[in-house]
Amino acid sequence: MKAMVLKEICEIKTEGASRMMFDLPFKKKPLEMVEIPTPVPGPGQILVRVSSCGVCHTELDEIEGRLKAPYLPLVPGHEVVGRVDMAGPNASRFKPGDRVGIAWIYSSCGACKFCLSDHENLCESFQATGLDANGGYAEYMVVQEDFAYPIPDIYSDSQAAPLLCAGVIGYRALRLSGLKPGKTIGLYGFGASAHISIQVAKHWGCKVFVFSRKSSGHHRELALSLGADWAGTTEDIPPERLDCAIDFTPAGKPVRHALWNVEKGGRVVINAIRKIESIPELDYTDHIWHEKELKSVANVTRQDAIEFLPLAAEIGIYPEVQEFELGEANHVLALLKHGKIRGAGVLVIS
Ligand SMILES: [Zn+2]
Ligand SMILES: [Zn+2]
Repeated sequence: MKAMVLKEICEIKTEGASRMMFDLPFKKKPLEMVEIPTPVPGPGQILVRVSSCGVCHTELDEIEGRLKAPYLPLVPGHEVVGRVDMAGPNASRFKPGDRVGIAWIYSSCGACKFCLSDHENLCESFQATGLDANGGYAEYMVVQEDFAYPIPDIYSDSQAAPLLCAGVIGYRALRLSGLKPGKTIGLYGFGASAHISIQVAKHWGCKVFVFSRKSSGHHRELALSLGADWAGTTEDIPPERLDCAIDFTPAGKPVRHALWNVEKGGRVVINAIRKIESIPELDYTDHIWHEKELKSVANVTRQDAIEFLPLAAEIGIYPEVQEFELGEANHVLALLKHGKIRGAGVLVIS
């Protein structure tokens, strides 16, 4: 089968100022298209013929080495939609042809205190799709059938892909933020996750303030078109204090700004696996005093996916996607790194 693989850690660097789509001369192409054996499903596993796979910021962390893969070469990709091709021994949940989605959680032990208390995302044996096991930048992948989810009919394969990471993790971040209907939330950074989270928050009748790097541009336009009540830059003071905030950025400063802008007792949730810069020093009085809280989102649980996918369909959340071919993965990653993708980038495979 064909797969785009990561053979060694490298910085995603393009030559010169040219950042036009499909015109990104690379210093070194991060991923390589190769022919590798199609995996065989083991006990309890299914073989999935991949049709769409979303491209996520986490892939930038993997390729550039901020998030260490236990082995290379590796097939990245954890927003996978496809159809069951065959079931392995003792796998009976799906039949060939069924459409399934695979998310960031590839497996967990199922027996530890975390797994037994709905925190399988924190399991010591947590394995991530496309990091600890080969993912969806390929024609096929295998997964335990318990870690695959039916996709609501209203979605095309490509529309469903970003729901599986950006959507599910954004939903977990919303839950962890403690947002209640009618309250005010700040979203720092407006990429794939935030543009889905805003639709859930608006569905809950919340006021949403969006902070992005630039005061104009497509992220801000998209935020306003999706119902943002206000949009400004990361440094701006919003029209009113935030009950909670989610920082979706890889930067450090938004954490400090968000802690400043939340109301007494407010919580800031960081939705990033790795930060590319450190968080500036916090002042106890300005940023922490009055029972302000700082929390991170680590991975996802199956329950997050199980709850979010039907909710997204019920609300009618349609992620805005830009489709590319599998062989264009390097370009998509460079576009993503430079903030040039509107909504979510998706590789269409078969
Ligand atoms: Zn992701
Ligand atoms: Zn466990």
